[in-house]
Amino acid sequence: MILLFLLFIFISHVQTFLHFNNNTYIEQLPSTYFYSFIQPKPVPEPYLITINEELMSLLSISMIDRRQMAEYLSGNKLLSGSQPAAMIYAGHQFGYFTSQLGDGRAVLLGQLNQWAFHAKGTGPTQYARGGDGRAVLRSSIREYLASEAMFNLGIETTRALSLVGSVMLPVRREAIETAAIVVRIAPIVAFIRMGTFELFSTRGQYDQVQQLADFVIKNMYGKTLTNKNRYNLLLIDIAQRTGNLVAYWQAYGFTHGVLNTDNMNVIGSTIDYGPFGFVETKLQGYVPNHSDDESRYAFDQQPTIAAWNLAKLRLALNSLIDLPKPITEQYEFWLHFNRTYDKLMRKKLGLTYYMQSDKWLYEEIIRLLDLYHIDYTRFWRQLADDIIPIEIQKQHWYSVYKQRLASEGSYAKKIRRERMNRINPKYILRNYMAHVAIGKAQKGDFNELDRLLHLLRHPYDEQPDMNDYAQVSPEWAKKIIISCSS
Ligand code: AMP
Ligand code: MG
Repeated sequence: MILLFLLFIFISHVQTFLHFNNNTYIEQLPSTYFYSFIQPKPVPEPYLITINEELMSLLSISMIDRRQMAEYLSGNKLLSGSQPAAMIYAGHQFGYFTSQLGDGRAVLLGQLNQWAFHAKGTGPTQYARGGDGRAVLRSSIREYLASEAMFNLGIETTRALSLVGSVMLPVRREAIETAAIVVRIAPIVAFIRMGTFELFSTRGQYDQVQQLADFVIKNMYGKTLTNKNRYNLLLIDIAQRTGNLVAYWQAYGFTHGVLNTDNMNVIGSTIDYGPFGFVETKLQGYVPNHSDDESRYAFDQQPTIAAWNLAKLRLALNSLIDLPKPITEQYEFWLHFNRTYDKLMRKKLGLTYYMQSDKWLYEEIIRLLDLYHIDYTRFWRQLADDIIPIEIQKQHWYSVYKQRLASEGSYAKKIRRERMNRINPKYILRNYMAHVAIGKAQKGDFNELDRLLHLLRHPYDEQPDMNDYAQVSPEWAKKIIISCSS
């Protein structure tokens, strides 16, 4: 009787916590080509560091005992309905093609409705290429913080559900660190990378290119298309989504750090946070990734790189696009990038209606901010209060801007301030902030991590007791080195 009761408690825990009810990737695509089934390799003594309660309630996932959750979210125990699989892909890395990559240390755990759960750091897979299959606490905290920060800024991104640590599992990077696992959540199509198409096209597996394209169409639009030009439409749509995404990155100063074709997806959301950074006092040539010697992925290069990646995607889709006059992905990308960037920058300036000359206003201010090493985020936030750095006040730019504001007529100053404060965040994730939280977390203190998560959930709000985080980074932050190691 007691045993039965315990069994009932056990089963109800598993069911109430999370039950995967969907597995479109595995059901609609064969493992022969697209993925490998893999059991996550257990970690010793996993413990739940943080869980995204907002996301849990959005997905109707209920809380259970934290130890149990850590077991499931580390992959140590499998959730019901889970069929863990590692996805295969290829990609251009730093300009050079690698013919086969894949989830070397991550698994697709399963899907809940349209949401795919992807755990990173669950042990080596068939695609590990000699890697240990693990992720360290340091990079996992960065991924968790960044994806939540980006989401709350309003930028398309995968989200983080949970962070689980395993102190007992040493992981060798430059130094010995400890292991962690982040579970990311996004629509399944967010895990299809531009490089997934490249894998099949470069192998001459054109049927699989088509299967994958049809899978993306079905799952991105919720319906099957049969028209002849559907693959051209898909390419155009991906180009538009990518254009919009990169426009947001540029407007907010986000620098991804490793824009390889395997780190850009087809849904147009930010994925695979590694050595990212938000610009501060340097814009042109800002490179967060210490290992990027040639500055390939510098902040100002991102639009060009995204267009380059889309050209690779077009090559990968070429076998499917048999039209006399296909619309080019380059045209669509730049059109949407420019349009969205223009819209965002004019909003940042507090302008409501369009004037062609506004482009000069934001291009010139960016040049000046860079020239005088003025903090990007602080400048925009303070602009609404007419707090202008002295170097800028002396510029022709300032008088043109004031005239342009005056031309907006009766539009009240107070309304403008509120609008500007909804697009110019007060708080962003500066590298030093993550660095401090990581240092404490490595000693077992997660208070700073929690504090940052709370802060970055409301980046546009005044948070009076958090003012320190709205200041420029301290001098010592210049010594922080962010490399690819993760
Ligand atoms: P990333 O730089 O995290 O985007 O990783 C690039 C590729 O290397 C992906 O295919 C990863 O799955 C793989 N990878 C990175 N780190 C590891 C690791 N420690 N073990 C196995 N594969 C890894
Ligand atoms: Mg990657």
